Amino acid sequence: MENIEQNVKKLLSEIPAVNPFGEKVTLVAAVKLQSPNDINRAISAGITDIGDNHVQEFRDKYADITPNARRHFIGHLQTNKIKYLLGKVDLYHSVDRLNLAEELSKRSAAAGITSEILIQINAGDEDTKGGFSIEETLDAYQRIKQLPALKISGLMAMLPFTDDERLLTSLAVKMREKYDILRGLDQNIKHLSMGMSGDWRLCIQAGSNMIRLGTAIFGTRNYQQK
Ligand SMILES: *Cc1c(COP(=O)(O)O)cnc(C)c1O
Repeated sequence: MENIEQNVKKLLSEIPAVNPFGEKVTLVAAVKLQSPNDINRAISAGITDIGDNHVQEFRDKYADITPNARRHFIGHLQTNKIKYLLGKVDLYHSVDRLNLAEELSKRSAAAGITSEILIQINAGDEDTKGGFSIEETLDAYQRIKQLPALKISGLMAMLPFTDDERLLTSLAVKMREKYDILRGLDQNIKHLSMGMSGDWRLCIQAGSNMIRLGTAIFGTRNYQQK
């Protein structure tokens, strides 16, 4: 049995309050496959932000989760599922393609709301991951910026699964450079979501100000007993 309370307290004490750029670091708990009870335990222990990957899970658990947590959506999102999230998600991290941005804007406008988003960057150019390449960041920003019902507040980086720390650091530093360029253009830019259980330390060192941790909080995920 995983000691969620202890993991959260330990992480909150280990994660620096600010990154080397002097920005507050936000911990988002990645809650895929976790029970509402375990998620609520993490919230009681100090987690303020939670991130879901799957629309169906988000819907099934929504009413059972302590309502004061900020809700993030961090998984691949099909356009036909947007309707189930609209107005319930505080920050969409995973806007990984233009047509998703267009559809999210269209549906947000129809609902009379603005949705806050991050642009997802596939930093390692991996075929298995969605998102714009690092080189496309500015172009993606400029296109998405024109959509009326979205507020872009930063970038979300997908880094490769590797223990090559030099590679991870060089990609994380490149992400921070793109983030700083956008920040120079737009005062709404304030989140660089980058770092998971295996690489959050080096990501914060490179300038991440939002990390998404699952395993470090809840232990190894059990994909069998969903
Ligand atoms: C699952 C997931 C995480 C957390 O992964 P861990 O390695 O368990 O910390 C972070 N971001 C995204 C997009 C995820 O799907």
